[in-house]
Amino acid sequence: MLIGGLEKLTLIDYPGKVAAIVFTSGCNFRCQFCYNPSLVWPSKETESDKKDTAGHPRSKEQDNNPSLYSEDDLFHFLEKRAGKLDGIVITGGEPTIQANLPEFIKKIKDLGYAVKLDTNGTNPEMIKKLLKANLIDYLAMDLKAPEDKYELVTGINMNFQKIKESVKIIRESGLPYEFRTTILPVLLSEKDVESMGKLLAGADKWYLQKFKADTELVNPEFKAEKSYSSKDMDGLVVIGKKYVKLCAWR
Ligand code: SF4
Repeated sequence: MLIGGLEKLTLIDYPGKVAAIVFTSGCNFRCQFCYNPSLVWPSKETESDKKDTAGHPRSKEQDNNPSLYSEDDLFHFLEKRAGKLDGIVITGGEPTIQANLPEFIKKIKDLGYAVKLDTNGTNPEMIKKLLKANLIDYLAMDLKAPEDKYELVTGINMNFQKIKESVKIIRESGLPYEFRTTILPVLLSEKDVESMGKLLAGADKWYLQKFKADTELVNPEFKAEKSYSSKDMDGLVVIGKKYVKLCAWR
């Protein structure tokens, strides 16, 4: 596994559990608002890839490859903390692009940890495989946009059917799950929230995440972009609540 980092303690990222977060390295999306550019850029890219989502050359910081975290060090830590931490959040980047994810999670579960997987939903086959092997205890998926805006938001032209399939698999998994969407005015409108709500109709939980520009971003030009106000977010939640059992913003 390519591991980009470890956060040794979180009380908020795994509902109801004291957990650590493992950040996997590399992502198949280029969400313009993404605050993890060092996890997103793969270590090897072609010259044409060396541009940001707006088509500009990437900054020096963006061009830095992630310094990988040693898997041995990670498991040394996990062995030491077994019984003290309840769970591990596996997030990215995008964990499901790594073929040996099932073996990696199995090793974590063998130490007694519950596992929460964060995914962008592009690899329903991997999600299915992990569920079949009982390797997941909680699923969180980003729904980035309605279908017609997926490429604008993620910077990638992809098959939206994969996203719909992942939504279905997660909803039918029988596990606790949540969907999340990062919202900012330049990308998503009330109408878009309405469209996404329709796609998620009947789902358990949907969190609308307020855009923050206080860190490095995949598209540095987004640092100048505005967030929705708290009042606007309240209004978007009212729309979301028409469709799902629990909708809130954070
Ligand atoms: S927000 Fe998530 S899916 Fe999007 S580029 Fe960043 S890590 Fe990848």
